[in-house]
Amino acid sequence: MCPLRRRDKSIDDNRDTGIVIIGTGFSGLGMAIQLKRSGIHDFVILEKADDVGGTWRDNTYPGCACDIRSNLYSFSYAQNPDWSRRYAGSKEIWDYLRGCADKYGIRRHVRFGAEFTGATFDEETLRWTVHTVGAGSYTARAVVAGVGVLHIPSIPELPGIERFEGRRFHSAEWDHGHDLTGRKVAVIGTGASAIQFVPRIAERVGSLTVFQRTPPWILPKPDRETSRWERLMYRVVPFTQRLRRVARFLIYDARALGFAINPKLMKVLSKPAARHLEHQVPDPQLRAKLTPTYTMGCKRVLISNDFYPALARPNVELVTDAIAEVREHSIVTAAGDEHEVDTIIYGTGFHVSDALYHLAITGRDGRDLTEEWRTRGARTYLGITVSGFPNLFFLLGPNTGLGHNSVVLMIEAQTRYVLRCLAALARRDVDAIDVRSVAQNRFDREIHAKLRKGVWNVGGCRSWYLDPEGVNRTVWPGFVWQYLRRTNKVILDDYELLKAKRPRVAARSGA
Ligand code: NAP
Repeated sequence: MCPLRRRDKSIDDNRDTGIVIIGTGFSGLGMAIQLKRSGIHDFVILEKADDVGGTWRDNTYPGCACDIRSNLYSFSYAQNPDWSRRYAGSKEIWDYLRGCADKYGIRRHVRFGAEFTGATFDEETLRWTVHTVGAGSYTARAVVAGVGVLHIPSIPELPGIERFEGRRFHSAEWDHGHDLTGRKVAVIGTGASAIQFVPRIAERVGSLTVFQRTPPWILPKPDRETSRWERLMYRVVPFTQRLRRVARFLIYDARALGFAINPKLMKVLSKPAARHLEHQVPDPQLRAKLTPTYTMGCKRVLISNDFYPALARPNVELVTDAIAEVREHSIVTAAGDEHEVDTIIYGTGFHVSDALYHLAITGRDGRDLTEEWRTRGARTYLGITVSGFPNLFFLLGPNTGLGHNSVVLMIEAQTRYVLRCLAALARRDVDAIDVRSVAQNRFDREIHAKLRKGVWNVGGCRSWYLDPEGVNRTVWPGFVWQYLRRTNKVILDDYELLKAKRPRVAARSGA
């Protein structure tokens, strides 16, 4: 019998467990659900907040929504016939995740208020000791990190910001207690988050100054409410929803032809985006400021019907000069223009390439993961395993993000892959698997050869897809179906199989 198939009677005080999962966003919950569905109950999930939901719990800014259709931005095994719109809002997605946690009995495995700080691998027992702030430590056979990379706000150090006497906050830490009605608001950034909240606040504020560094490519958003008959059809004949999901998957995945294979094909998408801009922004001066000069796809492609019209409002100004200085009640640009503001909202995105560097993960021979990734780049095998760190699995790890399709598909592929690895441990009667460095290097070379041709690298822009050295450690350079195929089986020759020298000793430490 699989050693991980112990029943979950004692999970409430189980500090010696089969698997520790970190995070309860789509990744962490997806892993937990897959374990449950496979009859594996011996796991603990660490969550630093007080509820499940990850980014969809944390991002509460007005207008927050997903720009991937909900039929596809959801688990294949937990389709929701009741999505209210084609593109659900953040609250509805969060409710969906909470519903999944309840449906599959995940909450009883979650330690809320437990912030993962690092993990240490014991080469005698081949087990991990996982450290937290708030919940002590746990020992586990395997660790699955579903921590994501879009959660540490990136806040620019603007000269003079310490003198500013108004309120300032980041889009992911929205201050709902700060009423924006009638205020003089500055928004910095015009990325995926800003283009969603700018239209929502533009009507309420007294004045809105939007500071844009680089114009995004924006396509029309073909959003609408789902009709009653559609929802009924999905409920009565679930196959119809599945069919739409598959069709949408294929349409989205075809876009990899432009993103990853031949960026010249991005013209097929940039033409309707240019038409959208022309149609929504008749003022040639404003339109010129909003016209991107890089190839579409180099930065995330956005969808919106109300961002451009919001910028054309009489109380809204788009500023493209760099910010030179912040004063007590104003922002001054490099051109010398002073804009009076009492609130600054940062729509400036997240720390991505260094998002995992605060974690202290020590593998075989005392190897420090952060140190290795910092000095040699975040190298992995399939974005999931890392040589020298046995039984440590990443979900949405390096080079498995997407700009053209739903990341939930990647997460599902990865959680299935983890299950296959765990099954291989049991089948081969070993305790750990460690990917061989030769296999990892081969994978690294392969994807970076592909990335060199991708739009993110040749599109003529600078984006958070690239690390400070200009290396793309973020996106998967191909079709999603290729990744599904690659992860469909575990090539055990690529792994070293390890057997513990010392048997498992149950840990009994308190919180
Ligand atoms: P983002 O896409 O990284 O955009 C940040 C914006 O801030 C950019 O316009 C950037 O300009 C600007 N900026 C950054 N530093 C600046 C500085 N020092 N001075 C002036 N401008 C500065 O961040 P985000 O909008 O929060 O979105 C992050 C990611 O979250 C997205 O790409 C997406 O993957 C995800 N997201 C997804 C959805 C969804 O619907 N699925 C919704 C929201 C967010 P530059 O372009 O010049 O760097």
